[in-house]
Amino acid sequence: MKKIIFFWLIVIVNMVPTILFSQEILSMKEVAPGIFVHQGQHLDVDDGYQGDICNIGFIIGKNSVAVIDTGGSESIGSALLSEIKKRTSLPVKYVINTHAHLDHIYGNVAFKSDGVEFIGHVNLPKAMRFRKEFYEKINLEYLNIPHDKSIQIPPNQLVKPIKALEIDLGDRLLKITAYPTAHTNSDVTIEDYKTSTLWTGDLLFIERTPVVDGDIHGFIKVIDSLMKVEFNLLIPGHGTPTFEPNLAWNKIRNYLIILRNGIRVAIDEGLDLQMAIDSVAKKESSKWELFDIQNGRNINMIYPKMEWE
Ligand SMILES: [Zn+2]
Repeated sequence: MKKIIFFWLIVIVNMVPTILFSQEILSMKEVAPGIFVHQGQHLDVDDGYQGDICNIGFIIGKNSVAVIDTGGSESIGSALLSEIKKRTSLPVKYVINTHAHLDHIYGNVAFKSDGVEFIGHVNLPKAMRFRKEFYEKINLEYLNIPHDKSIQIPPNQLVKPIKALEIDLGDRLLKITAYPTAHTNSDVTIEDYKTSTLWTGDLLFIERTPVVDGDIHGFIKVIDSLMKVEFNLLIPGHGTPTFEPNLAWNKIRNYLIILRNGIRVAIDEGLDLQMAIDSVAKKESSKWELFDIQNGRNINMIYPKMEWE
């Protein structure tokens, strides 16, 4: 008898991690009526990437639900889907990716089913393919996901810069706008007219150091154009949603201007890349999380391009 009890004890103990893993719970916050956001952690890919570092969430209309970004793995996507099911029985009809970065797209596969439209920038399918091999390496190394389980679901409905797309969730119109190259070459924003909310993707960072993976000039231009439009609430790609849009836009804009000016001066003064990395924009350091590593990467990305300007 004792042996049998011991056997079942071992079985149950072994099952616990599986049960915990499959029932992953995501903390969600309703930031405006019908708009739910899960905030990922400010972790760098190099130190402790767990697939849950950006903002993901959903908007509920009268007839259907739109998901905006899906997290960095299928398990995060599944957890998001189960959070949706806790709050509504309406179907997910749209999955929108704000851009191609891995932390925003690898949960898509959890939403793949008939009748679900995947929406993204016209450049998104190519940008996803271009990064696929590199992302598979990261997913394997940090998340222990084998290559054949790193599944990309590219958009089937594409949005071109300038010509915005409107979708209707039932008494709730969303406007999806694509941009010329800025944070990346595949950025879109999602506007909810009902609550005057703009879901910015990584065109806005709050707390976490901004990432420039597209074009610094384009990034500043897009921010300038967005600053002219009034919104009640901004949901950034990383960080806490804010009801003070000007403060948030000014903070990221200042960093990008200081970064660009600093690199320009470094090039003019003949500083090499490493010297630029060691000195440019350092006074911004105390204002942002993960600053040194990300600021260095930004300079590494921008310096060689600006050298030729
Ligand atoms: Zn990004």
